[in-house]
Formats: sequence, C-alpha cells, structure tokens
Amino acid sequence: MRLSPALAYGCRYRTPPLKHLLTFTLLPHSHHHHHHRRRLTVSAPLLPTALSLSSQLPNPNFFTGNSLFFRMEGDLQRFWSGSSINKNKAMVEHLKTYGVIASKKVAEVLESIDRALFVPDGNAPYYDSPVPIGYNATISAPHMHGTCLQLLEENLQPGMHALDVGSGTGYLTACFALMVGPQGRAVGVEHIPELVSSSIQNIQKSAAAPLLKEGSLSVHVADGRLGWPEHAPYDAIHVGAAAPEIPQALIDQLKPGGRLVIPVGTVFQDLKVIDKNMDGSLSVRTETSVRYVPLTSRDAQLRGA
Ligand code: SAH
Repeated sequence: MRLSPALAYGCRYRTPPLKHLLTFTLLPHSHHHHHHRRRLTVSAPLLPTALSLSSQLPNPNFFTGNSLFFRMEGDLQRFWSGSSINKNKAMVEHLKTYGVIASKKVAEVLESIDRALFVPDGNAPYYDSPVPIGYNATISAPHMHGTCLQLLEENLQPGMHALDVGSGTGYLTACFALMVGPQGRAVGVEHIPELVSSSIQNIQKSAAAPLLKEGSLSVHVADGRLGWPEHAPYDAIHVGAAAPEIPQALIDQLKPGGRLVIPVGTVFQDLKVIDKNMDGSLSVRTETSVRYVPLTSRDAQLRGA
C-alpha cells in the first residue's frame, strides 16, 4: 500500500493554531554540524473535525509528544493497527519519505526495534500519533522519535554515552542502546516506578534485550532533572518531557562536543538543540515547535498539574 504525501502527513492543528505552515529543519547525514540545512515545508490546513475530536480524549495530554503537527488521515488508522514487523518497516519508510530521518543507521535501528512492543495494547502502534501510557504520560509520535534520533545521530556512535530523561515506555532508550552498541552506554531515567518496570519488560521483548542483560542499557527510577551522574559525561542527552527551563545538571553532565535535545516551554514549546563546544561554551538553536508533557515533579504529574 502506497500513501500519497498529502495523505500520510496531511498536517492539521489540534491545539490552538499558531501558523499555517510547518517547517522542518533537518541536518543532512554528515559528520559536520555547520553546513546548509535542508528545509521541508508542509502546508497545514485547518480542519475543524480535528478540534471536535478533542472532546473524546481520555486525558489532556493525549496530544503531547508531537510536533505541531503531523497527522495521517483517519481511515489509515486501520492500516497501522495491529503488530507486524512489516508495518514497522513501512512506518520507517514513511519517516524516510517525508524527510524526518535521513540516516541509514537511524532507519536500521528504527526497523529493528518493533514499536508495537512499546505501545499499550489496543492502540495503533505505527500510527503517527502520541499514545497515552498512563500516569498522565504519552509515548511520543514516531516522527518525534525519528526527529530526535536524527538530531542526535552523530552523538550516538558506537561506544558513546547517551542519557534519555523521561524514558517512559523505554522505546527511545532502546533505540539509543542499539545506536551506541555494547561498548557504549544508554541510560534511561524515569520518575514513575510503574513505567520503569513496564519499560524494562518492553525492552526485554525487543532487539535491545541483550544490551539490557549485559548492562550497557539500564533504566532507573529517579528525578531526571538531576540527570544521572554515574555515567556522565554524556555525548547525547535527550529529554522526553518539556522543561520550563534547561536543567543545569543536564548541561553539567554534557560532554564537550556533546548534544542535548530538549523541549523547553510550558504551553508552547520549542525543541531546543544545545551543543556544548570544546571550550565548554554552548550553542543553542530551536529545531521546531512541539507539544510534550511537562518535566516536573512526580506529584505534580500525577495530579495533572
Ligand atoms: N520518550 C518517552 C516519553 C514519555 S512522556 C516515550 O516516548 O515513551 C514523558 C515522560 O517523562 C513521562 O513518562 C513522565 O513520567 C516523565 N517525566 C516527567 N517529569 C520527569 C522527571 N522530573 N524525572 C523523570 N521523568 C519524568
């Protein structure tokens, strides 16, 4: 089944419309950070039906974990339902086609980790949308996972150290572990103990299971705003929840030459890319507008505050 670009990523806003154009800025596959970026602009028609949908939502964070905004059309939902490694592969093909991922390594890793193992039963695991995972959290949409892996690709080379703050289902932590390999280190930090337990079970069913067993991949119950000093400094830090401001501990635990990808903001958030230069100075840029659940205290999260 072949999907036209308009169908597969027909963009619409389900949160207050900011602008009618979505711009994705992507770094082409390369070993240098400073050269021309490829810009892909997708038009985003406003559809009122998308807003009425929100009244049926199970929780207010249903739409978090998204860029503002990709969306595949409703009747394709069926196609993306049910688990199948072929559908996982088709999902990766779409991320390639629409320029979300450009790296062969990232594509390989996304192909080998079946997303269905990480999405709660009863949801369409390959559908390009965030899915609630309980505790006022969501697993991010595939295009967000793809975007973050692509942004961090050069900092996820074999042997490198990666930290995933707000690891949730463990999906991205597992991807990081495959990228950095058995000589590297992939650490997930998540403050909901139940999510840590289920993420470990998810990972055990996935292609990253041997890495968990051998110890290059680990997931911990902790406040991720403090990072995870034990395996610092990190080449790559990813934060899967939106911070009101960038936590200093994460900057401190970033290696010179390392990169931090973090959504920053409250209602409207920017996905920030922070590079620590060799002299310790920081370069900060905004990648895109996003909507994530907040990086906060466990109590505030469970209260839904
Ligand atoms: N990347 C994950 C995202 C899960 S949503 C995935 O795609 O599965 C964000 C996660 O951040 C939630 O699981 C939430 O519990 C967690 N979180 C929020 N604040 C946190 C904090 N201070 N410390 C650790 N985890 C936190």
